[in-house]
Amino acid sequence: MCLRALRRRVFSCRCRPVRRRYCSGRESVSEWWEQPLEALNTEQWEALCDGCARCCLHKLEDQDTGDIFFTRIRCRYLNENRCSCTRYSERTRLVPECIELTPTNSAALEWLPPTCAYRLRARGEPLPEWHPLRTGDPQSVHAAGISIRGRAISEEHVHPQGYDEHIIHWVE
Ligand code: SF4
Ligand code: SF4
Repeated sequence: MCLRALRRRVFSCRCRPVRRRYCSGRESVSEWWEQPLEALNTEQWEALCDGCARCCLHKLEDQDTGDIFFTRIRCRYLNENRCSCTRYSERTRLVPECIELTPTNSAALEWLPPTCAYRLRARGEPLPEWHPLRTGDPQSVHAAGISIRGRAISEEHVHPQGYDEHIIHWVE
């Protein structure tokens, strides 16, 4: 792989600082998240996010092969401990590459991490066992080692020419 052939791409997510609802155990667990994405209401759509913040990591793309490589470099506006965006309402102005997931684009975005709930559901695949909706515990995404908490570095501290030195393999 010729590292010089890599092109930096930044994309992002909808990891907004919302209060998520989880299954309380009293609800009729109809596993609403197994419905098609188009059938979810706004609250369900928001709750589907696992809060991993992997989509706020910078990625590199091999211009020859199109392969995507995740780095541990995160957006400067991400609160890494909370794994949420600190400037959500302004994000598209501050970070033009930051795009919003919708039921129609989440299947096509190949750069989303393979664990992303939107990507999985868009392909008709089940949520993983550690997903907070399945565990009822918002911490389970961290306990399972899926979130980026404690493992990233802000883009403010990395020279743009040195991104390739921060490629990771725990998101593949
Ligand atoms: S602005 Fe940054 S932290 Fe906020 S959603 Fe976009 S990429 Fe993530
Ligand atoms: S579930 Fe998807 S949209 Fe939500 S934080 Fe993780 S990668 Fe981003």
